[in-house]
Amino acid sequence: MKARTCHKKHKELKYVFADFFELFVPLVAKTRPMKQAITGFEKDDDGHWRAILECGHRQHVRHDPPLTTRDWVLTQAGRDSRLGVELDCKRCDEEPLQQ
Ligand SMILES: [Zn+2]
Repeated sequence: MKARTCHKKHKELKYVFADFFELFVPLVAKTRPMKQAITGFEKDDDGHWRAILECGHRQHVRHDPPLTTRDWVLTQAGRDSRLGVELDCKRCDEEPLQQ
């Protein structure tokens, strides 16, 4: 008897979650960080590497040990291996490119 009510409650809870996700997921999709693929690399004026993203924004991919270890960015082969990898473009989130 007790188990049955418990089971029923579980089921109701599932429906509540389904409704919740139906409303919530599109909202999250809109506000989640903008993923942009890396199309190339360039150095800034200080010699720090920046990834060029497909949106046209640049994002630093510093090799700054021990804080940030990105030794792959120091070699051509390493950078090539990261082409197409998606980064969260903070610039896109803040100021979308004008279409
Ligand atoms: Zn961007």
